[in-house]
Amino acid sequence: MKYHIDTIPVWDALKTDSECLLCALRRKTERLLVERSLGASVMSPDTRIKVNKTGFCAPHQVMMFNFPGGNRLGHGLMMLSHLQTIRPAITKSFGNSASDKGGKGGFSIFGKPKASLLAAPDNPGSCVICEELDSLHKRQIASLLHLWKTEQAFRTAFSQSKGLCVVDTQAALLMAPEMLNGDALISFEKTARQLLEDSLKRLEEELEWFTLKFDYRNAQKPWNNSRDALERTVNKLRGWCLGSEPMQDE
Ligand SMILES: [Zn+2]
Ligand SMILES: [Zn+2]
Repeated sequence: MKYHIDTIPVWDALKTDSECLLCALRRKTERLLVERSLGASVMSPDTRIKVNKTGFCAPHQVMMFNFPGGNRLGHGLMMLSHLQTIRPAITKSFGNSASDKGGKGGFSIFGKPKASLLAAPDNPGSCVICEELDSLHKRQIASLLHLWKTEQAFRTAFSQSKGLCVVDTQAALLMAPEMLNGDALISFEKTARQLLEDSLKRLEEELEWFTLKFDYRNAQKPWNNSRDALERTVNKLRGWCLGSEPMQDE
């Protein structure tokens, strides 16, 4: 697969010194997509058609609802038009009410749910932002691998960074044979694994000190790097989800 390569954002994310530069980049992109969903694209016919059909997942509904300086009217109009589109299909998939004669109800508590229920049209996992974010994130991983292949300065800087989270290490290793070969592939695989192993070991120590700081005997001792070790450990294991927003002030 051919990816559009965009290396400058990868360099910018590397400079944030976060537990995963791909997570930092992904989160920044996610905020931009949420902002765009509430902004000009609310009224664009193309977006409207996609939103009507697919909708937004729960976490992205929350992000849109809480977005600073958000757009309640725009959010409301999108949801109204989405609801108008999917309501007939939801009603149909749930069938007749359970109290109807013949017990043909779609959600009878006494019987198994009908198969059609499992294909309810407002699939809770479907989301226009998730779809676009996934495709942009693949492009970001490809750009990182492209930099590894083409720029020695990036190899050096990446090798000295905190590397990637578990999720993105896995994603990058899966994509690596598509983008790299020979020595570049072998060295990337080795570096990514080593960075992850070193990070996990470091985080274990930092998190342990974080827990020990709750002992009154350690109250006066310095935190060292452990004050946010809980957030960073979770972010390393599961991808960014806790703590201050990465790449916020740009
Ligand atoms: Zn990550
Ligand atoms: Zn989503």
